[in-house]
Amino acid sequence: MNVEARIENAGRIDYDAPYRMSINGEMVGATETFDVTNPATGKVFAQAPAGSREQLDQAVAAAKAAQPGWAALPWERRSAYITAYADALQAHREDIVTLLTTEQGKPRHSMASTEVDYAIYWVREVAMRQLREEILEDTDDHVVKVVHTPLGVVGAITPWNFPILLGLWKVAPCLITGNTMVMKPSPYTPLGTLRFGEIAQQVLPPGVLNIVSGGNEQGQWLTEHPDVSKISFTGSTATGKKVMASSSGNLKRVTLELGGNDPAVLLPGTDYQAILPTLFDAAFGNSGQWCIATKRVYVHESQHADFVRDFVELARTKTVGDGMDPATDLGPIQNTMQYDKLKALLADVRAQGYKVPLGGTIDESLEGNFVPVTIVDDPPEDSRIVREEPFGPILPILSYRDVDDAVHRANDTDFGLAASVWGPDRAAAIEVANRIEAGTVWVNEIHIHGIDIPFGGHKQSGMGVENGQEGLQEFTNTKTLMFHK
Ligand code: NAD
Repeated sequence: MNVEARIENAGRIDYDAPYRMSINGEMVGATETFDVTNPATGKVFAQAPAGSREQLDQAVAAAKAAQPGWAALPWERRSAYITAYADALQAHREDIVTLLTTEQGKPRHSMASTEVDYAIYWVREVAMRQLREEILEDTDDHVVKVVHTPLGVVGAITPWNFPILLGLWKVAPCLITGNTMVMKPSPYTPLGTLRFGEIAQQVLPPGVLNIVSGGNEQGQWLTEHPDVSKISFTGSTATGKKVMASSSGNLKRVTLELGGNDPAVLLPGTDYQAILPTLFDAAFGNSGQWCIATKRVYVHESQHADFVRDFVELARTKTVGDGMDPATDLGPIQNTMQYDKLKALLADVRAQGYKVPLGGTIDESLEGNFVPVTIVDDPPEDSRIVREEPFGPILPILSYRDVDDAVHRANDTDFGLAASVWGPDRAAAIEVANRIEAGTVWVNEIHIHGIDIPFGGHKQSGMGVENGQEGLQEFTNTKTLMFHK
């Protein structure tokens, strides 16, 4: 079927139909299924197929068989397919947003809508990007040219916090560069990914994008599979290390987008009133379940007490609730594993006697995994709440005396994902930003991303980047061509 005929078909997804995996262009179930729970109600609302190892092997075989034909298409043809995929996703936008809220928890009217819109925009834009060739030398008798060739089959493994966006962030650059893919979403949020796989089957040739679902063991199978050439992984640092180890069998390329403990450093004299709402969203958006959420705020001692008072006042106005309710600002914690982790972290905060001017106690009589907005005032630098990535709506606000000390504390971590520096003197703030050890540092702004802006972590926050030319290149081999004229 050609690309035009495929897009014609793309309106036909039955949202009440059972969830199926995409293998070689077919929608397939599995002998076993597993529960998917709505985190706002605690109720199981769907079953997802628990794919077997044999099915994972079939998906990899389909991707392998499809890859040479897909790579042989002119770049413009692949681009047309991926643009058609963006159109098909757009046609299903409303349903995907609702599904995302139902399985992930984030508010439908804000974060879920933004995630889906952004993901579709990303697919559409990446379809228009090209990988640049480089002529390094062109003399009278010799040419040196660098080109980028596809790797083959890419295995993609995604987390539960932004399942649609982070999934499609991998799909578009992987496919445009001539690779095919087998993707495995988190078992906590498999449904949106299964649906975007189903939509893909109506637009893309069979085998180009395969989606399997199941438990963590599927991730392990994918990383050790001899016919997979690269793993593109987003998830925790602990799992990232396992991925790297088990990818070594055939020396897979790995891109690891891992955890973070991002500091925000407010330099003395920052007009903090002007940025309070931005900082609140930076820390508490998606209920803090965000790799690049601001997870520690350092405020100069001359402003610290006022900042805490005003931040608490703003935070007090926010509503935690079911993401389907338009009055909700922050949804539930996506799963009970994470909810229990936050409960333990809050118990530690209480046991240590830290000051908690807002929140701090979970109402366990509620049906969903709701955690209140919690602010911890100036806990010690070596406390768990400062050292660990909470991945929830709990924020420590720390006081510092001199800027060198703030920079030292901001850097005193194994993480190095992102950071922000705020201050009245832009040049001074940029100087501080230059000293922060992180893959992305924003100055007097935060959470700006772009198709052409590479994103990746330093230290144990990751390896490699996504987005930009570098991100595209990570789905390719570098090949040097030299010839005599
Ligand atoms: P996780 O590491 O528990 O799981 C991520 C994925 O890995 C899931 O699909 C899971 O099934 C799979 N997996 C589990 N064990 C595996 C194994 N042994 N081999 C292969 N795959 C395996 O992470 P999570 O809890 O889903 O996500 C939260 C984490 O992700 C946080 O640490 C967060 O900071 C990080 N994250 C990072 C980024 C980034 O871009 N740097 C973005 C989002 C989330």
